[in-house]
Amino acid sequence: MDFQNITVAGSGVLGSQIAYQTAFKGFNVNVYDINDEAVERAKKRIAGLKERYREDLGATEQEVNAAYNRISFSADLAHAVADADLVIEAVPEVVQIKTDFYKKLGAVAPAKTVFATNSSTLLPSQFAEATGRPEKFLALHFANEIWKNNTAEIMKHPGTDEKVFQNVIEFAKAIGMVALPLYKEQPGYILNSLLVPLLEAAQMLLVKGVSDVETIDKTWKVATGAPLGPFQILDVVGITTAYNITLAKAEATGNELYKKMADLFKTEYIDKGKLGKETGEGFYKY
Ligand code: NAD
Repeated sequence: MDFQNITVAGSGVLGSQIAYQTAFKGFNVNVYDINDEAVERAKKRIAGLKERYREDLGATEQEVNAAYNRISFSADLAHAVADADLVIEAVPEVVQIKTDFYKKLGAVAPAKTVFATNSSTLLPSQFAEATGRPEKFLALHFANEIWKNNTAEIMKHPGTDEKVFQNVIEFAKAIGMVALPLYKEQPGYILNSLLVPLLEAAQMLLVKGVSDVETIDKTWKVATGAPLGPFQILDVVGITTAYNITLAKAEATGNELYKKMADLFKTEYIDKGKLGKETGEGFYKY
């Protein structure tokens, strides 16, 4: 394993999980965030994950504490990356913030350091130049609740060095992920390239009045052996997220069917507090 010292930049929802999972698997981790307040929040957020690892994975008190103790925190970027083999970036999904971050990072990180972005919707080629080291840069995309939903999509951009790509694949496996390599850039990676069209097709069948929620789900499940139908998946994703995506599509395309679906999400679900599985009801009751 070429990587031992890992820095996670941005310690929000995903950054804190990436940092803790990496430490849990025995790596030294530095967490970087923009100021002391953000660093204090990171400490609390990461400490809060101990309980989840105990409950969900049956980890012992000793294991969860040892993992936490392998993490250092800093609001000084140069200090946080001084001996980093790999920096995993999980700063906000805003082009300008990420571009500025990579310019600063490129200037202070040692020449050996590989950079990986956890961006969900932005492509690594957008930031390759700003890093100053395009050959040592790629995407490493995790899913929320990384300790359970342990996929890691590893995606090259055209300038990524093959050895760097292979090393990041090995690293992903070493931290307990199922490593999923993408040899070319693809918006939405593999998962969302498959899932988004499925969920959208199901919504179109519903708003066109072709069939009902239960029948659409049943068709998918019985015919393919899938454990969940598209509307059950939407309940897991959350109706608010589904609404935002459909509304954006309606605005971008002017398609009346998307508009009708967005209205349905709003009036029948969001306004009635049926936000999906987490709230006990969405398309189904839980
Ligand atoms: P978040 O808003 O929870 O956390 C962002 C963190 O970045 C905060 O701690 C913030 O203080 C910090 N930050 C802000 N500006 C910064 C800067 N200039 N330098 C360093 N840190 C800075 O966001 P999140 O949900 O954790 O998402 C972070 C990245 O992970 C995004 O690219 C997102 O697309 C991706 N992602 C998110 C999810 C998810 O389910 N939330 C899943 C996969 C990937």
